[in-house]
Amino acid sequence: MKRISSAPQSGSNLKDIRLLNRAVIFRAIRDAGAISRADLAKQTGLNPATLTHITRELLDRGLIEDAGSGEARVGRRSSLLRIHSKIGNILAVRLARHNIQGLITDLDLHEKVIHTTSSSFLSNPIDASMPALLELIEMVIEKSGVDRGTILGIGISAPGPLDADRGILIAPPNFPGWDSFPIRKTIEEKTGFSTILDNDANSAALAEKWFGSGRNLDNFVFILVEDGVGGGVVINGDLYRGQHDVAGEIGHTTIDRNGPICGCGNTGCLELYASPHAVESRVRQALMSGQKSLLSRWIDNDMNRISFELVAQAAKQGDAVAREALLEMAQVLGIAAVNVINSFDPQAIILGGKISSVGELILPVIQEYVDKRAISRSEQQLPVLISELGENAPLIGAFSLVLRELFQNPEFHPVTSSQR
Ligand SMILES: [Zn+2]
Repeated sequence: MKRISSAPQSGSNLKDIRLLNRAVIFRAIRDAGAISRADLAKQTGLNPATLTHITRELLDRGLIEDAGSGEARVGRRSSLLRIHSKIGNILAVRLARHNIQGLITDLDLHEKVIHTTSSSFLSNPIDASMPALLELIEMVIEKSGVDRGTILGIGISAPGPLDADRGILIAPPNFPGWDSFPIRKTIEEKTGFSTILDNDANSAALAEKWFGSGRNLDNFVFILVEDGVGGGVVINGDLYRGQHDVAGEIGHTTIDRNGPICGCGNTGCLELYASPHAVESRVRQALMSGQKSLLSRWIDNDMNRISFELVAQAAKQGDAVAREALLEMAQVLGIAAVNVINSFDPQAIILGGKISSVGELILPVIQEYVDKRAISRSEQQLPVLISELGENAPLIGAFSLVLRELFQNPEFHPVTSSQR
């Protein structure tokens, strides 16, 4: 299996369109469960020649299959197409600061097994966490009961910055020993499966494009608010990675040039103001200055127990301190959204990650910033959306990395264990 970033860049227009059309067809088939070619043409708007060409190619490669015949409206019964349920499985892994998640699913996203280890992960030294990662991979394979030969590849999403092409994390702050460690190569060697690594925001953006709020959008920017703030840029239906894989590092754009120094070396980065961690700090300060809040009772005056989840819960119950902290976060995200819109001119901004749970509280504020401040030549409002995939976007993103590869590479044929 070839890797995303090693795909030739020249002549990419035609290649992009093919990927896009394959993706559109895959999605239409998946949404319908089983669908006739006539309905597929209607759904996708593709011309019959293109449709025939692509469906034949997908059938030949075993990614879709004939599902027997359906009821015909007129004349002969038409044969139906569906996603090939037996073609294989994808193993998706999400590396986060405090845990690892592993998922095995078929191409139709029917989950076979999902498992999370909650021991702090990337924060642990590499000689402890790398074996834990390999153990998790073996454990989900075993638990799922799937034949190793059916696994098409492993997709891994991890916090950036990272070098997707070389399969390494780059100087991750607070992740001892991970700097430049050949994580992809190690996993490929130990497991025997082709592996694709990308950052969590890019992975999540890809998941939104294939399965989430970006399904019907060709140009959008996804902002992932987790422990840090990241971004994934989708242009013409596919990820825009930039020359050095750092496109979309929105979390490290400066909001205040006189602000504190960030771990990245820049000053006053967005991440320092808009991360869940920043919200927790704001609440902590408010409580320490004596402001009244539901949270004081909930945490029994132990400031270490303040978490973004508790703040979100309090805000939903109308707590003023919690709401104020989220409002400040929303305003900073509003500024970021305007900057992003003025840089990329997308169709929409999608927000996801931990903030998905407070979408209804922060969205109106961010939308107001966009409505009032972004440069737009459109009569219509440029929407700010909350991820449909919520906190699962980076994990489904890891799955999508491999899926995208399957659809990107016509030469790709699933490998059986005997061929490995
Ligand atoms: Zn920074």
